[in-house]
Amino acid sequence: MKVILISIDTLRSDHLGCYGHNYTKNPVSPFMDSLAEKGVVFEKHYATDVPTPPSYTSMFFGTRAIKNGIYTFNQYEREFTCSTPSLAEHFYKEGHRTGMISNLSLIYPWLHRGFIDIHKPGNRFQGGTAEEVTEEALRWLREFGKKDFFLFVHYWDPHVPYLERSRKEYRKLFSPDEYRDRAPNMRYINDNPELEKAYQEKHKRMNDPYEPEKNLALYDANIRYVDDGIRRLFEGSAKLGINNDEILFVITSDHGEAFGEYGFWDHFSCYRNISQVPLIIFGPGVKKGRAATYTQHVDILPTLCELAGIKTESTLCGKSMTDLLQGKQDGFREEIVTESAFVAIQRMYVRDEYALVHTLFRKERDHINDYELFDLRKDPDQVQDISEKKADLTRDLRIAMDDWVTREAGGAAFDKLRHMAYEREHSNVGFLLSK
Ligand SMILES: [Zn+2]
Repeated sequence: MKVILISIDTLRSDHLGCYGHNYTKNPVSPFMDSLAEKGVVFEKHYATDVPTPPSYTSMFFGTRAIKNGIYTFNQYEREFTCSTPSLAEHFYKEGHRTGMISNLSLIYPWLHRGFIDIHKPGNRFQGGTAEEVTEEALRWLREFGKKDFFLFVHYWDPHVPYLERSRKEYRKLFSPDEYRDRAPNMRYINDNPELEKAYQEKHKRMNDPYEPEKNLALYDANIRYVDDGIRRLFEGSAKLGINNDEILFVITSDHGEAFGEYGFWDHFSCYRNISQVPLIIFGPGVKKGRAATYTQHVDILPTLCELAGIKTESTLCGKSMTDLLQGKQDGFREEIVTESAFVAIQRMYVRDEYALVHTLFRKERDHINDYELFDLRKDPDQVQDISEKKADLTRDLRIAMDDWVTREAGGAAFDKLRHMAYEREHSNVGFLLSK
């Protein structure tokens, strides 16, 4: 089997045309939209753990942070407690050549388990440009693309700094005026001097504008640049004599991005704009359509393995989505949970489009209550806490969330997120975390 797993770092799903981004004169993702037409678009796909390191860990190993120990940045390999093989190890053991075009393994060595070839375009953790990544991927495909393989291709361009990463010819395609009506309300930042200072300092350091509409336009320019990179990957692969129709393609991201919504920027909470990411799968045996059920990153490993006829362990947190690739939808997942443990320590539980967010550590964001309820249909940016108005539902979801912790961690006493929040509250490293 031939598999290419493409991750576009920092890509929120609602910034792709196939997920409803249709308000700019120029399309942001015309090529990815054309690919989405060939396969299954997962409408409610959520990262399991955010930000970057825990997200890729859950994607590559099919287990959650609550099981594998990787919650945040700057963790050591000895903290990684997963004993089951990675996606790449599974494919390698079954005779596939495995390749990684990504800089992730520079600082997170468990993420390169099972990859025979590791190419690091560019020379920083937040890797090379879309052109460099595509060129590196094509070089690898030239050598190994004719036989069975598993290739991971990692684009970084939508990540901050937006302006520095953007190309002039792409900047011209999107005007800040097109985003003015949709730009987030900045009052949570502007009304809080400490938060405002942190926001100003961060954007100054990155050399990014302060106005969200300008950042949104740059963000989309960078997505469009990746879209063209993926187009070149397809065209280049075909020129190498590789039949793209024989390849199973997966397109996703590790987390989304905030532009000021509810007092957040970057990707350091677990609200929907951070945790909901695209997932598009197409290739041999996939029936085109849209999957409206909840799915999560932990489901990617069991799905790809099942499609390749590879047996996986029953201890995984994810389950195979192969039925969804055949148009069957019912009874897949009724609830999802996403955790975040960098700036804000949070757990979000979503059921029937109601999201309960438990914030265990908030730092200077005093406007956030411990437990908040949001209706994602009416309030996708999650700025209207309705927990008092819907007290019964809030209570039910709190019980469901506690049940989940008991099932997954063995009870509140073993809930690492709680321990991390306590340590953070009583440590003096907070100044580092607002960066
Ligand atoms: Zn990331």
